[in-house]
Formats: sequence, C-alpha cells, structure tokens
Amino acid sequence: MLMNQDKRVSVRRCASYSPDAVRAAVAALADDLIGGWRSIVPPGARVLLKPNLLKAATPEQVVCPHPEVVRAIAQACIDAGASSVRIGDSPGIGSTRRVAEKSGIAQVARDLGIEVVEFDETATITPPQGFWHRSFTIAAEVLRADVIINIAKCKTHAIMGLTLSVKNLYGVFVGKQKARWHFQCGRDYAHFARLLVELAYTINPAFSVVDAVIGMEGNGPGNGTPRHLGFLAASRDMVSLDQVVADILGFTPEKVPTLAAAQSMGFDISPEHITIIGDNPKSLAVQNLRPAARMHVQGPLPIRMLAVLLDRFMTTQPTIDPHTCSGCGMCAQICPAGALASIGTGVPPRLVRRSCIRCFCCQEICPQGAITARDPLGVRLLKHLRLE
Ligand code: SF4
Ligand code: SF4
Repeated sequence: MLMNQDKRVSVRRCASYSPDAVRAAVAALADDLIGGWRSIVPPGARVLLKPNLLKAATPEQVVCPHPEVVRAIAQACIDAGASSVRIGDSPGIGSTRRVAEKSGIAQVARDLGIEVVEFDETATITPPQGFWHRSFTIAAEVLRADVIINIAKCKTHAIMGLTLSVKNLYGVFVGKQKARWHFQCGRDYAHFARLLVELAYTINPAFSVVDAVIGMEGNGPGNGTPRHLGFLAASRDMVSLDQVVADILGFTPEKVPTLAAAQSMGFDISPEHITIIGDNPKSLAVQNLRPAARMHVQGPLPIRMLAVLLDRFMTTQPTIDPHTCSGCGMCAQICPAGALASIGTGVPPRLVRRSCIRCFCCQEICPQGAITARDPLGVRLLKHLRLE
C-alpha cells in the first residue's frame, strides 16, 4: 500500500436539498468520522472548498454540487473558526465566477461573505515517492490553503465510468493543462485513471464529500439525466469513499478505472476492509443506474482482440446531433487533439476520426447536450448477441 488509508466512510441518507436536511447530514458526516468539523478545520485555518464546477449549469441540471451542500460545508468551516473560506476550481470552459453564478454557488458565497476564486496562477507540486509522475503544475490557490475540502458530484462519466472524489480533483489543473494531460494520455484510459489517482493523493484533501442526493445518469458528466439517489457520503480517504459510492450505484471497480488504477497501485479497496458508518448502504442501493456509453469493449479475449482490429466499429466516439447543435464552436475550442474542425459559426463542427483521442471533453462541455458518447455498430451488435 502506497498511502496510509483511513478506510472509514460515512454515508448519510438525505432525501432532498432542504437546507435543514443538508445541514444535518453534513454535520453528521463529520461527527461520524472525525468528531466534528473542528477536527479538520483548526482555528485560523485558510480553507479551500473545491467543488466540481465543470461548466455553467443550473442546480436542476445536476452538473455541479448543489449550492445547499456547499453552503452547509462552508458554514461548518466558518463556525469551526476558519480565518478564510474560498471556493475555487478551473472549469472545463468559461470562468469560475460565471460557472459559480449559474450553479447558485456564487450566491452562497455572497450570503456567507466568502470569496469565489479563479484558478489562474500556477505552482509546481511534487507527488509522493513511488508515484509515476514526478511533478504536477496545478493551481497555486491549492497550495496556499491549509485545509482542502473536496466536494464532488455523483455523476456518470464517459471514460471513467463515474466521476466521484478522485476525478473531481482534475480541476486543480488550470485551463489548458487539462487538455495537455488528456492529449498526453491519449486513448490509454488506464494511464489517465492512474494520473487521476496520483494527482488526487498528491493534493490529499483533508476531507472529501460526494453529493449524491440527486446525481446524474446517462450522458454524464455534463449532459446526463438527473436521478434521485438520496444520500451524501464522505471520508478522509478518496478511494474508499469512491468504492463505497460505486458499490451503492452497482458499479464494480472494473467499470470505474480510477478504482482499478488505485487497486493496481496497492490501495486496499476491499469492501470488507472499509468501515461504513451512518446509514446502511444496502438500504440506499440504486438499481439500474444508466451508465454513459462504455468506452472499452469487455468480454472474452477474442472479442477484445477483434475490437482492436475493428477499431472504427468497436470503439465509442463522440457523435454530434446536428439538430441540437447550435454551432457555438466551444467543443472545437476545447478539443485537445484538434479533432473537431469548425466549419463556421452556427454550423456543427466536423469530427476528424483519426485525430480523436476519445477524451470526451467535447461531450462534457457542450452547452446544448448535442454530443453523446454512442456505442458504435459493432458494440451494439455484440450486446445484441449477449457477447459483450
Ligand atoms: S456540438 Fe455543442 S459545443 Fe459543439 S458546436 Fe455544437 S453546440 Fe457547440
Ligand atoms: S473530438 Fe472530443 S473526444 Fe475527440 S479528442 Fe476532441 S474533445 Fe476529445
């Protein structure tokens, strides 16, 4: 094992975003694990809240953590005696303040007299010994904080199966750094997953919370469908937390590459070694959560070899719906591989298949939900034949 893991996870039922219900659940999460928020927020601490601010979307679109969750956590930090509480992230596209405004989180910041900060300045951080990566250039704001609270939204994800607490910290890469890493990892999703785990444990937040009151299924993480899940979960250890949430959602580690990567690095995610406190996760089990399209063909070895040979027909690629697309060009702007050729304003961009590295950044940020990760013909056929 590479890290000392505190493998305790708190799960608390929370039926709605009513302020009282969320406040009670957020207090209980910390009471369960650390004896209250004062244990992680010493008096005078500078706290950074890192919510998932992927893109400008309303709370009803369930892209970002709900503002009441952010409010309850921020208030708990203030009450614990923090000298400052700041909210920061680097969205996929657009400014942090714009995303925070639309998500309702900026209003929370105004109500509580705290600040929303842009991640624009960068600094270098050295990962722990034994990690593959030797340095990360991340938002300097992260290094200025004494305490980092990681606030993830529970959503399906086109290439990582689910986006939970580990994936949420990808937002500490500033602007084009995110595209650069996507490009560097290319179609090697196992490498990308390992990068995410190494980055998350280099940042090593004091506490991670997953907002799964209303999560997202289907075309996540930017354009899926809201799904009532009814709980909040938290831990000091991200892979234990993600493992417990994935289990509630019915996703095995093979379907969540960050969990598989963590396992390969020596993290212990065996359910029998994780202590769950609070509500019984079995009573929260979610049936048939609709995943985003699967990126990799699974099944017996011959089927996987066939998939490599018939790449075009067996590998999921982004598909643009020309009727929904407004031709805004954002996807072409964000594409790290230059695989989307902008033909003109108001016209859907053209996908250059051979250049696409299938990072699905375009699908995440499309404001119209016009891009889907659709199963190609070969995968649909295999599913039909029940071979996959
Ligand atoms: S697919 Fe989406 S992001 Fe791309 S041009 Fe169309 S509306 Fe804009
Ligand atoms: S087209 Fe979309 S999935 Fe392909 S490389 Fe560009 S952003 Fe990534």
